[in-house]
Amino acid sequence: MNLLIDTVRLWDGTGAATQPRMAVEVRDGRIAWVGAAAEWPGRRAHVEVVDGTARTLIPGLIDCHVHYSSPGGPDWIAQFTDPPATLSLRAVELTGVSLRSGITSAREVGAPEGLNIRLAHAAAAGHFPAPHLRAAGTWIAHHGTYVPFARQFGDASELRAAIRDEIAAGVDLIKVALAPWNDGLRPDGAPEIPFDTDLLAVAVGEAHAAGLTVACHANDPASCRIAARAGVDSLEHGMFLEADDLAAMATNGTVLVPTLSVWDDWLFYGREMDWPAARIARAEGLRDASRAAMAGAIRAGVPVVAGTDAGGGSVRHGRIAREIELLIDCGMDPASALRAATREGARLLGEADARGTVEVGKIADLVLLDHNPLDDPAALRLVAAVFQAGRRVA
Ligand SMILES: [Zn+2]
Repeated sequence: MNLLIDTVRLWDGTGAATQPRMAVEVRDGRIAWVGAAAEWPGRRAHVEVVDGTARTLIPGLIDCHVHYSSPGGPDWIAQFTDPPATLSLRAVELTGVSLRSGITSAREVGAPEGLNIRLAHAAAAGHFPAPHLRAAGTWIAHHGTYVPFARQFGDASELRAAIRDEIAAGVDLIKVALAPWNDGLRPDGAPEIPFDTDLLAVAVGEAHAAGLTVACHANDPASCRIAARAGVDSLEHGMFLEADDLAAMATNGTVLVPTLSVWDDWLFYGREMDWPAARIARAEGLRDASRAAMAGAIRAGVPVVAGTDAGGGSVRHGRIAREIELLIDCGMDPASALRAATREGARLLGEADARGTVEVGKIADLVLLDHNPLDDPAALRLVAAVFQAGRRVA
């Protein structure tokens, strides 16, 4: 499959500035040549030429926090308990939505019954259009906390067993959810959350020994403190991270996936659905805390990776443009925010050598935009074409 994306403004994601009038040649699913269009050595009559005039080419986008079992929307959480057939069909539909928006790779960080594992395998086999998927299987959570459809454990040996079962089931990474006791379930004298850094480090050790990363859900102050210090690979949400937590993350090389879209979207639905004032005030508080944590992360040099939490909150699928806008609102410069959704995402997937930038030899996951997203991130909504491993998919 040979293709030339011709005379295009190129933002290659490597850190270089955008360059005008470039050409990118794709051969057999990989990027074969990148340079000034006038210098391309081939013959245009011999390849499929895509005219990039007045357009911008960027690497395929990577959303590192999605849940395809739920469509998002105001009642997202109820939809995780839909019948398995509904979950499966929905996941197939939503991966297509994601892909058409320019998301060519995604990390599926939790599905009931490990649905995302089968989803990732079937997508990789080409059974339906979908991003390249890395699946976390089912959430692992202490009993009495988090959501009832997570896989639950009670002590370190059960936690180890849970992780080994997930690995045997074929996951690409492990997802652990730290959370306070659910209402009325906290035993007398028990700490605020039934987790500590040592217990979480057990999970990290078990996963790392199998060559897998750990994504850790933490969206309350105690969980943020613990997760920041346990050596997890990514901390998800993290809106209560304090300066000392962020310093520990920087030391441990823990990435922050702030999922800023969640609170933004809750406030939309809060107004739209007439949520009680107290619930709206809570969402506003979470948004503000999240912004403060992001500002701290930038100051502390914690790597930030884009993840929308589509499906896991009210955020709809295919809306990574909004997440990138919010990263910029929180103080990231536009190029860094775009890298959070390309090169840094590929790094978190462990695939930086194959994806995340437009460089010779890499998989040809590319998005062609009608405007320049470095001038205005809203351009990320103006998708002219999406290429996945060199094949045009949108
Ligand atoms: Zn989530």
